[in-house]
Amino acid sequence: MSTTLAKPAAQNALTVPQKALLKMGLKRDIDLALHLPLRYEDETRIVKLRDARPGDVAQIEATVVNCEVSYRPRRQLVVTVDDDSDTCVLRFFTFYPSLQKALAVGSRIRVRGELKGGFIGWQMVHPTFKPAGGELASALTPVYSTVSVLPQTYLRKAVLGGLARADLSDTFPPGVTESLQPVVWSLRDSLHFLHQPTPDVALATLEDRSHPAWQRLKAEELLAQQLSQLESKRERAALRAPSFARVEDGLHDQLLAALPFKLTHAQERVGREIAKDLARPVPMHRLLQGDVGSGKTVVAALAAAIAIDAGWQCALMAPTEILAEQHFRKLIGWLEPLFAPRGLRVAWLTGSQKKKERTAMLALVASGEAALVVGTHAVIQEQVQFRNLGVAIIDEQHRFGVAQRLALRAKMSGEGLEPHLLMMSATPIPRTLAMSYYADLDVSTIDELPPGRTPVVTKLIADVRREEVIERIRAQVAQGRQVYWVCPLIEESEALDLTNATQTHESLTEALPGAMVGLLHSRMPLPEKRAVMSLFTAGQMAVLVSTTVIEVGVDVPNASLMVIEHAERFGLSQLHQLRGRVGRGAAASACVLLYSAGEHGKLGETARARLKAMAETADGFEIARRDLEIRGPGEFLGARQSGAAMLRFADLDTDVHLLEWARQMAPLMLDRHPQLARQHEQRWFGGKSEFLKA
Ligand code: ADP
Ligand code: MG
Repeated sequence: MSTTLAKPAAQNALTVPQKALLKMGLKRDIDLALHLPLRYEDETRIVKLRDARPGDVAQIEATVVNCEVSYRPRRQLVVTVDDDSDTCVLRFFTFYPSLQKALAVGSRIRVRGELKGGFIGWQMVHPTFKPAGGELASALTPVYSTVSVLPQTYLRKAVLGGLARADLSDTFPPGVTESLQPVVWSLRDSLHFLHQPTPDVALATLEDRSHPAWQRLKAEELLAQQLSQLESKRERAALRAPSFARVEDGLHDQLLAALPFKLTHAQERVGREIAKDLARPVPMHRLLQGDVGSGKTVVAALAAAIAIDAGWQCALMAPTEILAEQHFRKLIGWLEPLFAPRGLRVAWLTGSQKKKERTAMLALVASGEAALVVGTHAVIQEQVQFRNLGVAIIDEQHRFGVAQRLALRAKMSGEGLEPHLLMMSATPIPRTLAMSYYADLDVSTIDELPPGRTPVVTKLIADVRREEVIERIRAQVAQGRQVYWVCPLIEESEALDLTNATQTHESLTEALPGAMVGLLHSRMPLPEKRAVMSLFTAGQMAVLVSTTVIEVGVDVPNASLMVIEHAERFGLSQLHQLRGRVGRGAAASACVLLYSAGEHGKLGETARARLKAMAETADGFEIARRDLEIRGPGEFLGARQSGAAMLRFADLDTDVHLLEWARQMAPLMLDRHPQLARQHEQRWFGGKSEFLKA
């Protein structure tokens, strides 16, 4: 592939704009060709003021009828022009005598700028202008996203150069375009058109990207993404893992019998899906998603039991220590009695462990005596050696970065076998995301809650009505119920979180004499956290004030009210998870979203839309869908993929048909046209495709 710019060795010799191009990732000719305009300016025609609409970026030709310096409200050059249909005032706040000369009364000029309408008539602020007459542009003028050191004109030239040099040969296999109706344009035609559209195009079709040229690019991009994910899926299929058959009356069946409840149909179904994966000699790579409280932990435990039955080890991980404890305590309570007769043990690995305890635990893990290893990220740190890790289960997978997942996979069993991987998440992935960014994952969904849960009523209340909320708490506590009060995490400052939580704790203690009000925050030593948690779980503590450390995993059926302070600062899915902490018992439960209006005394549009969504629906999938709509896919993907790997052109909302097409196309292409597939991926991702597979 040819490169536009000097070789890296000569980097020092690069000019500032050249460096800027590189920094923007515009390295190859094809990168430049794929840098599509943000919008266009129409310099192909002259409009009459009479026909213009306020807000138009318009080009007019007119005669200067007045030119004067005004000092009110500040020094400015005010020029009035007349185009025979109407007049327009041009304002310049910085100007030199040369400008005044060029705009002398009687001059004929061609002016471009945004037209503002108003009761004093048309205006343009700092328009560009040149003498009237001269040729009109034959194509719309593209405007590219750029940085300040890289002027549009320079970038435009670079892009057109790249476009002319790049190899734009078609990588869609023959016959494809006919089978895909919206995509009838070739890549070459599409790119040339999008960089220099003819003036007769309906601009709206470029803006909403419904134009066939856009359709082609989106189809191209989605196909590249699907190809790369399918490849990584196939690469994984070539790896080996231990295969576990379910043992009749083994640990799995005994655990099932020991549970104090019956599995829901959904739990049974996903259990079968996972068991089927575990029986195959290929590493499982499955996401188990299910709403808060849908009972994912039991399903995970049953999967672990299958591996342990077969004589392999299982690792269970959660993002924080307190979560690991909360999530798995119950599970271990069920498993340990079954372990004892088999001589098996559970090992805990956490960051805060004393050296001696940790050493002992590590020995248990290395010998294989610990069939189940539970903990935080510490579980996958270097010194931890498993005898034979068969299954790794990660709770709240979205909090784990790619690097951590890779580290885990590297804990091979020594015989070239990889562990099976089960990731769990309470944040369901909307269907379109599952089909695109997560196409390499298998997904199991628990779409049913265990019986007996009561719906949680959600209320939006302004912070100024805090007193009423405290009154509600008083009423709940009087009935023997328990209450959570959650303070937000302020990313920049842990100290601030603490102050906030501490103050709330103090004021609630004062407001609720006779009730025990506890405080839990991330900076507390673990033993103290444990003590607070156990007082709350045991029902002695009436109110628990905490930073978001309780976000997931606390299971106290008697808690019937949750107050979330500064709810506007939380993500929807996070709010949903928090809310899932109440309504676990038979009592009617409520969640109060306390919001504070911003400096302008008003909650912003988006913030309001988000909080309203919370009050309107309790369906985790619907909430995830709205979250995606409001915040875009970046938030969902988290550490999974870098910005570079994000879809640039396709929009999962409007382009589902193209996504579906790309999903069908990718396997056909890999099988029948591997050369084209490689060329296609190379074109779209260049050196980046490896990262996509992490
Ligand atoms: P999550 O999916 O949020 O991780 P958990 O696994 O923590 O949910 O389960 C929530 C609660 O529901 C736990 O107390 C668990 O013991 C209980 N539970 C799980 N499955 C069932 C079931 N089928 N019937 C009744 N209770 C269940
Ligand atoms: Mg859970």
